Amino acid sequence: MLLSMKFVEPIERTLNSKFKFRCHKDISCFNKCCSRADVLLTPYDIVRMKKRLEISSEEFLKKYTYIHIDEKSSHPYAVLKMMDDNEGKCPFVTPEGCSIYEDRPTNCRYYPVGQGLMISGSEKESVNKDFYFFIREPQCLGYQEDKEWTIETWRIDQGVDLYDEMNREWKEIQLRRDTPGQPKLDSNKQGMLYMASYDIDRFKKFIFESRFLDVIDTEEVEKIKADEIALMKFGFKYLKYVLMLEETLKVKEEYRK
Ligand code: SF4
Ligand code: SF4
Repeated sequence: MLLSMKFVEPIERTLNSKFKFRCHKDISCFNKCCSRADVLLTPYDIVRMKKRLEISSEEFLKKYTYIHIDEKSSHPYAVLKMMDDNEGKCPFVTPEGCSIYEDRPTNCRYYPVGQGLMISGSEKESVNKDFYFFIREPQCLGYQEDKEWTIETWRIDQGVDLYDEMNREWKEIQLRRDTPGQPKLDSNKQGMLYMASYDIDRFKKFIFESRFLDVIDTEEVEKIKADEIALMKFGFKYLKYVLMLEETLKVKEEYRK
């Protein structure tokens, strides 16, 4: 999902689609894409960035993001907050480039390629398909360079595979919710979606410090206590359950009606 479709080329691309592009420090537009950028974040983006900055997810979200509510689906998304200066720079950009480069978010990795997920078929036999498109912002001169890529080689070069793998289940949840007939979320459900998607430290407290484990039967307790990725994935299970997409959690016998 993108916040602005202004410079999106309206042609669907595949992994084999070719393009010429090179981004380097000596290009005159260097860092221009890191100002006034709409960078929508994913759960795995937050896990990587907060770890890199050695702060909690709560602190990260408060300091570096704002919440965007998608009008159609009513889903809340965390978006990277640009600085409140004349240039509207990303808080992580430096004259040398991105200061968190190895942990930069998915959308920054993909740029100037955009990516989406589409669902087709019936509810029972649906197929999810990735699609791609080019973003052609006039300020970006990288397209005038001579290095040739396919979207597939670009993805490998930018290390997006792991990010896509980590976020796939979460994107599918958004997609399944974003179909006709699904009700809009009330503020309580929006809060659950936001917490389990982005605020992983608060989600952990919720799991271990509320009555959640008195009610829910899970064999994953030790795993999610020790491993943040397992906790993030457990969050996706929790979301499928509370958003009534799948019976992914088991309520203990004594709490069943
Ligand atoms: S996170 Fe890095 S790559 Fe992304 S906009 Fe900020 S400085 Fe640029
Ligand atoms: S070539 Fe495009 S991606 Fe690279 S620095 Fe310039 S504007 Fe950013």
